[in-house]
Amino acid sequence: MKLVVLSGAGISAESGIPTFRGNGGLWEGEKFEEVATPAAWQRNPEKVLRFYNERRKGVIRAAPNAGHLALVKLESRFDVQIITQNVDDLHERAGSRNILHLHGEIRKARSTADPRQVFPIPGDSLNLGDTCPLGSQLRPHIVWFCESVEAMPQAESICSTADILIITGTSLQVYPANQLVYCIPGHCRIFIVDPEYPEMEPHPFLIHHIPKTASTGLPELADILIEEFRE
Ligand code: NAD
Repeated sequence: MKLVVLSGAGISAESGIPTFRGNGGLWEGEKFEEVATPAAWQRNPEKVLRFYNERRKGVIRAAPNAGHLALVKLESRFDVQIITQNVDDLHERAGSRNILHLHGEIRKARSTADPRQVFPIPGDSLNLGDTCPLGSQLRPHIVWFCESVEAMPQAESICSTADILIITGTSLQVYPANQLVYCIPGHCRIFIVDPEYPEMEPHPFLIHHIPKTASTGLPELADILIEEFRE
């Protein structure tokens, strides 16, 4: 059984990493246009680096919560594939094995000369003057607004083979990630674990909404699914 998880910022909220939309369109007090677009990088790379350095410190301080751990537990019974919009590494640190990051990874840096060159960031900061082996400035390995999501074809292909889809911690407002929920086959069952029901286009399938936070709803759902599909 293939179980696909589409996760968003809400799954990491109880680990102390703030969500995006919960703060009136501001991300940690900043408008996204000021820190998360190619234009912002051109205008003021130092500000962009400082913003991500602060976010990175928060991610390093955080630890996976019971929601992340429940997804690891599901691997005992299901072929689990996580597709995350998150740039933190809490799914990895919880122990999940198959993770696709749609929007990049905050603990990695990317060459501005060759985007295929990606490096782990040692420590918590990336600064002006930090260069790749080609001699070009490194930037955060983040997919900014207005940039294409290179992992989408792979994510669509994964969703097209899902038997179960769990959507958790995402408002489904960010395009094109929000289109993945329509890429599933006809027999796929859908669960949403989120205190709020996301504002989404009508979906042709029945969706089971569990109006709970990730740290309570995901362990409960994991236990139910593991019991239901026990051999
Ligand atoms: P979002 O902020 O738009 O929506 C958060 C969703 O999580 C909402 O539906 C909310 O009801 C739900 N939520 C809040 N607390 C929850 C909890 N405890 N348990 C379960 N659900 C909870 O998030 P998004 O849809 O992921 O879009 C934000 C974008 O910003 C993403 O593209 C992401 O890359 C980026 N971002 C990432 C992080 C991170 O990596 N942790 C944090 C903030 C923003």
